[in-house]
Amino acid sequence: MFGPYEDEHDTYGEPLNQECRALHAAGRVESGDPERLVSGTRARHLLAACEQAGVDLGAYDRQVVEWLAMWEPSTVQVMIGIISRAHQAGRAGMPRTVPTTGPHPCPSCGAAPGQLHGWGCSTARCPECGQQALSCEDHTNSRAVWSGRFPGEVEVEIYGLEDLNDLGRRAERGEFVWDRATQLWRRA
Ligand SMILES: [Zn+2]
Ligand SMILES: [Zn+2]
Repeated sequence: MFGPYEDEHDTYGEPLNQECRALHAAGRVESGDPERLVSGTRARHLLAACEQAGVDLGAYDRQVVEWLAMWEPSTVQVMIGIISRAHQAGRAGMPRTVPTTGPHPCPSCGAAPGQLHGWGCSTARCPECGQQALSCEDHTNSRAVWSGRFPGEVEVEIYGLEDLNDLGRRAERGEFVWDRATQLWRRA
């Protein structure tokens, strides 16, 4: 659960803000963010908040989420906080059914959500092409940020796939393509 926030500074320590700062610190964001690395990161966190709250999104919902992601990380974080707290409030009076997996440190290298994976981390995905970073030989200088969720987990839930293997098979068949901006697989 995120928030409540009393002022903008309260949002600075959250994974979204940290991840955006890490992207800038790594020098990967060009002026105006033409590759949508930062806005894609904001969209991903917002989508993940909806998914964790069990919210089904229609095409127009997703369009508006992408638009909301154009705002500053702090503004987007407030929306994330409200979604997560509304979900929490709704759950308070309901029997617990599906256990939710919240953001946690990387199981392989211990990176905290929003931080870069250690070099050689076996969980990290290549930020350029989406395959396991260790097996990618094309982008050996790129290090990914740990989102707090296991790679593929968010996509499996957003698209209602069977499991991570199902996502892998669909990616191999070209049904899913890697979206560098959001650092998520999306339907081709
Ligand atoms: Zn890691
Ligand atoms: Zn790669």
